[in-house]
Amino acid sequence: MTEISDTRLMVGTGLAERIRSVAGERAARYHALTGRPPCLAAVLVGDDPASVTYVKMKQRRSQAAGIDSQLVRLAASATTEQVTAAVGELSADDRVDGILVQHPLPDQVDERAVFEAIEPAKDVDGVTMHSLAAMALGEPGFHCATPGGILRLLDHYGVELPGCHAVIVGRSPILGKPMGLLLLGRDATVTFCHSKTVNLADIVRTADVVVAAVGRPGFLRGDWLKPGGVVIDAGYNPGNAGDVAFDEALPKTRLITPVPGGVGPMTISVLLEQTVRAAFARAGLQDQTCSAC
Ligand code: NAP
Repeated sequence: MTEISDTRLMVGTGLAERIRSVAGERAARYHALTGRPPCLAAVLVGDDPASVTYVKMKQRRSQAAGIDSQLVRLAASATTEQVTAAVGELSADDRVDGILVQHPLPDQVDERAVFEAIEPAKDVDGVTMHSLAAMALGEPGFHCATPGGILRLLDHYGVELPGCHAVIVGRSPILGKPMGLLLLGRDATVTFCHSKTVNLADIVRTADVVVAAVGRPGFLRGDWLKPGGVVIDAGYNPGNAGDVAFDEALPKTRLITPVPGGVGPMTISVLLEQTVRAAFARAGLQDQTCSAC
């Protein structure tokens, strides 16, 4: 892999750490004001090793930021009704400020039904229809964590979004779709691509900003890219592989996210930031340091 110090790299680790640090300061202020820390509850169904690792990492980061973390575990055989009931209990629990349902859920579980059991005021991962509508309409609300993190990264690196052509490869409800909506809200001209898209490479070649969210290692090739464009690799596949053929892409791009160390760290930071924001809002408190409130 090419040297990590390349100035074309959009590294997320430092920015993500700063966001967590500010979230930690705000969590401490909330704790001092209310007598309890903000609380993020995670729901984990089954024991998929990657999901177990993600949830542990999220809990570790929460605790480090002074955010209380709860974990509700259900068997891999859990039904939609059981998972929905567990999420419903957390939604009704006044001590819980944010709810994260770790996905993917087992095939027998209706993911949408489970997401919709999250109280919108606690939807700190931005997965409910309420949050999606807010992102689509440009209304205040919680961003879906990974697209929200990507937007922060683009802003941090000074990428001009108004008028640019942004091509999103992937249209999942947690990544591709909300990503396109957030970019549209920032005046980009957005094209969504998916598995039925015809002439995908030709469309990607017209992108000033391309977001790869496919889940296939090395899927986007270097010769698909517009010279001088910006490449966001949201993919995270086994073996730390992104969705972009990085070594081919790097010489063509102005900016590109590495995998790991690009988009990944931003997701957890946005999740924690939104948890603190949810806690303040639920308590009816104004956090003066919160630019997004
Ligand atoms: P997903 O739900 O499986 O969606 C994949 C999308 O890619 C679908 O919209 C699919 O199109 C599209 N696609 C599949 N094959 C294609 C092809 N040949 N040409 C064009 N489009 C194609 O995946 P996801 O949850 O969005 O995740 C995508 C990637 O992001 C994964 O690698 C995942 O691990 C990663 N991810 C990373 C983070 C993070 O924090 N860094 C968070 C979430 C996800 P159809 O809709 O037509 O099927």
